Amino acid sequence: MTFFESQTQAQNVDKDRRQYILSFVSYISGTVILLYGLPHLMSGNVALASLLLGTSLTFLLTVVYYHRTGDIDLACKIEALLVVGFVLTLIYHGGYRNTALYWIFPFPLILFGLLGVRNALISNAVVLLAIAVMLFAPDWIRAEYRVEETTRFYASLVITVIAAGINDYFRERSHHKMSALQLSRERQANTDPLTLLPNRRFIDASLQRQMNRTPEEFLPLGVVMCDIDHFKQLNDQFGHQAGDHVLREVARLFRKTLRRQDIACRTGGEEFLIFLPRTELADVRIVAEKVRVQLAKTVFPIKGKAHRITASFGTTVCHNTGELSAAVERADEQLYNAKKNGRNQVV
Ligand code: GH3
Ligand code: MG
Ligand code: MG
Repeated sequence: MTFFESQTQAQNVDKDRRQYILSFVSYISGTVILLYGLPHLMSGNVALASLLLGTSLTFLLTVVYYHRTGDIDLACKIEALLVVGFVLTLIYHGGYRNTALYWIFPFPLILFGLLGVRNALISNAVVLLAIAVMLFAPDWIRAEYRVEETTRFYASLVITVIAAGINDYFRERSHHKMSALQLSRERQANTDPLTLLPNRRFIDASLQRQMNRTPEEFLPLGVVMCDIDHFKQLNDQFGHQAGDHVLREVARLFRKTLRRQDIACRTGGEEFLIFLPRTELADVRIVAEKVRVQLAKTVFPIKGKAHRITASFGTTVCHNTGELSAAVERADEQLYNAKKNGRNQVV
């Protein structure tokens, strides 16, 4: 079903988490780096000052980019690239009196926060490799670290990456499971078990919310209320099971006859609401008439005998998001008129 909410609350929480990490790295880490960079600017240490101030500025630009575009994925990728660039350049340079290595420990955690497990593992592995080359082929770099310092630093950095990786892998797995569980519960609660069509709860919980979010995808929204004629007789004559079978077949006919974006819901016993996004009244009536004719033509075999049923239809159009329930009421009144005028018709 295409119209169920695709974003669960768990996914929203995860987006919040990434926003916080991005803001933290940009604002807090950016400020700390700036504060360490300014004195170097005063003392004429141009290389280190440019690295620190440049990193701080680009961190800030990334968060500005995010606030302007709302593209959290790209903003996090850019930020991760900046973090990696900063780490490698700082190790190369050595920082103030070769103290660079103290600053490296937070980066594996930040990469996991920004990129998710898979991408963070790949980028951490690449960074570890690059650091190994720089530390253990020391002629290549400007910094001068003590041998006993580099080996110990590297071992504890590898441990940090592995521990962060294990931690985040299981956090992400539990997040996915919760998310899938929530989605499946939501679907179940919004689905009629007999016909597998969306039910009345779907209209309030999902349709209304989606319409509020993207009205242009829905309005004008055609509303058709459909009620099977003399269904009680069919039940009385052939039993409840035969009635259930007919209801399932009617749902199948709706799915076959309607467009992909149309939504047929079972709102009561033998009562259905059909929503037709971006459809004006004349077309709503044409669609309802098509369904009516199809239904009247369909043969339902019950207990070895061919049976036909008819239905009555009330139509209207909803022109703004605030009047969905009023439109449903109007469709219901029209349905009443169709019944009063003799059934098996569209009003
Ligand atoms: P009308 O043309 O005026 O709509 O007549 P009707 O008999 O269809 O309407 P009424 O409201 O009097 O009866 C609806 C019947 O639908 C009553 C009940 O037997 C049947 N019904 C309701 N829910 C179900 C269901 O889940 N399964 C089956 N088999 N029958 C149901
Ligand atoms: Mg009926
Ligand atoms: Mg009814």
